[in-house]
Amino acid sequence: MYAILTDDPGLARAGSGDRTYYFVESVDGTTNEPLEGAVASVACWGDTATVEADPERAAVSADGTRATPDSEGHQWGTVCPTDPDYRTDLLERLEELEGDVRLTTLGFPGESFCYCDRCDRQFEDSGYDDRTAWRSAVITEFVADTATRVDGELTATLYPDPYPGHLQERAGIDVRALAAHVDGFLVPLCSPGYETTYWVESLARGFVAELEGLGVDLSIQLSAAEIEPERLAEITRKLEEHADEIVYGTSPDDADTARETIDRLREKSEVPA
Ligand SMILES: [Zn+2]
Repeated sequence: MYAILTDDPGLARAGSGDRTYYFVESVDGTTNEPLEGAVASVACWGDTATVEADPERAAVSADGTRATPDSEGHQWGTVCPTDPDYRTDLLERLEELEGDVRLTTLGFPGESFCYCDRCDRQFEDSGYDDRTAWRSAVITEFVADTATRVDGELTATLYPDPYPGHLQERAGIDVRALAAHVDGFLVPLCSPGYETTYWVESLARGFVAELEGLGVDLSIQLSAAEIEPERLAEITRKLEEHADEIVYGTSPDDADTARETIDRLREKSEVPA
């Protein structure tokens, strides 16, 4: 299956793939009206606008660093995942959506987050000895609550690190626990132009191993920027045996590339008469 991911409503409506992912909530805090039939892509705790309006809501590390776009290693602001009002509002917005939903910026924004007073208190009261296990429980519980509110398929985006245990340490993402609540995982392996590609296949294979036996789909997201359609098709062919779906991140500038790539792939896969 081939899909496109875009924040452009015109491209989303054109529907050049089998499925369209459309940004309904982005990490900068902007929102778009959902489009019927498109997978609604929703940034969970990545929300620069909220963090800028109220910096106290940003997740904070043990050394006091706030997860804001101007902190090193952060490209956007991240709200603390135990912020109760934010969680409630987010779940309400997810419940209002119709059809399929993809969650992005799921989890804590790094290994050293979050050490706000509320997180410290909740961890102490949780009965967990291990903070990593407690963080995973927080995220898993949120995804479980989301799953009961979403009527279509639920897809969770994963940071592209398939090494066992890394996602849990980094973000509080326990893939095995989440698999019970989602239909699939989406892994962005994006690099404009793809000068080298060995890492794309290595990471895809790593996720195949990580997800084996869990009964969930694997979608791989590729970038359609600064690349010729034939080369993007070539990369796709190498990945197809590992993934259930290839998603092309697309803007109006490279919409033709994504469309042509999908056309080429479909032509080749048709059995000659
Ligand atoms: Zn916190």
